[in-house]
Amino acid sequence: MTGRTLRQPAELIEAGFADENRRTEFETIAQRYSIAITSAMAELIDPSDPYDPIALQFIPDARELVETPGETADPIGDDTHSPVEGIVHRYPDRALLKIVHACPVYCRFCFRRETVGPGGDFLTGEKIDAAFDYIARTPQLWEIIITGGDPFILAPRRLKEITERLATIDHVKVIRWHSRVPLVEPERVTNEFVAALRAPGKAVWISIHSNHAREFSDAGCAAIAKLADAGFPLVGQTVLLRGINDETATLDALFRTMVENRIKPYYLHQGDYAPGTAHRRTSLAQGQALMRDLRGRLSGIAQPTYILDIPGGAGKVPVGPSYCGEGTVEDPNGTIHPYPPNEAC
Ligand SMILES: *Cc1c(COP(=O)(O)O)cnc(C)c1O
Ligand code: SF4
Repeated sequence: MTGRTLRQPAELIEAGFADENRRTEFETIAQRYSIAITSAMAELIDPSDPYDPIALQFIPDARELVETPGETADPIGDDTHSPVEGIVHRYPDRALLKIVHACPVYCRFCFRRETVGPGGDFLTGEKIDAAFDYIARTPQLWEIIITGGDPFILAPRRLKEITERLATIDHVKVIRWHSRVPLVEPERVTNEFVAALRAPGKAVWISIHSNHAREFSDAGCAAIAKLADAGFPLVGQTVLLRGINDETATLDALFRTMVENRIKPYYLHQGDYAPGTAHRRTSLAQGQALMRDLRGRLSGIAQPTYILDIPGGAGKVPVGPSYCGEGTVEDPNGTIHPYPPNEAC
């Protein structure tokens, strides 16, 4: 059953996700940042659990209004690498196409929280033309990554237009969509939707954003199966979030669930310095310790790369952990072994 997306503070209170005494808090936050919880996600929330991992991702929190040093509106430097509106071209062979600013849900930790929201939701005619024109006249662009916002909130007709325009550009070989929709609004994944993504002659990859195994409802798993059965390779993106998924067992369950659903865990993102997100950021040392634990207990195909997007726009780099020492190497259980000294590890 498809219900309404909750967007108003009053609706969150009526749904039982918070007490009446939090109404002013929610209203203050709503003036600054968008709120949305789809029915698929609302149904998964256990209102009696103050640490419910779904609720913590989407229900506003007064700490979002506390900005800490280093936090900025454009934490990964999108603006400095934008040759035309809607395009972010930071690496030679690939660029982002930010086609829509709106999302099905608004994550409280979003790295683009200052730019996403329900207003001005689609690049308009001329601007889309300029973005496609940039792609067409930049032959080194081998891959186009369509993001936003969340591009999968667009109607299949719009998705098809994007697919068709990219399909006409010879040098673009790979189309990669980034989305939370298959899990947070699975009813969008219809046959028409799947057909709109097919691009003969191009490889179409889908990256699915998920932060907790609990997000995988039956309907969500069915939507993902539909995409996998259609032949799209699926990868998973996760944000490391303090108090939500920063425990070994939680990440273990998430990455296993992804693999069981034919999603290859791709990146575990260190939290960006987006405004008002300090309460959800872990330290790099904690992230590295979690990755070490996972290495000892999880299949290789269930291991993501732990990634830091360097503040300001210098790019993404893996941030360990490293298993190499001076003439030593550490095994997955933490034991140190000598490694031939003529090879600095
Ligand atoms: C994250 C990002 C990409 C994709 O990086 P991958 O490491 O290929 O996943 C590409 N361009 C920009 C501007 C990005 O921020
Ligand atoms: S879906 Fe992505 S872009 Fe949208 S609010 Fe969540 S993290 Fe931000």
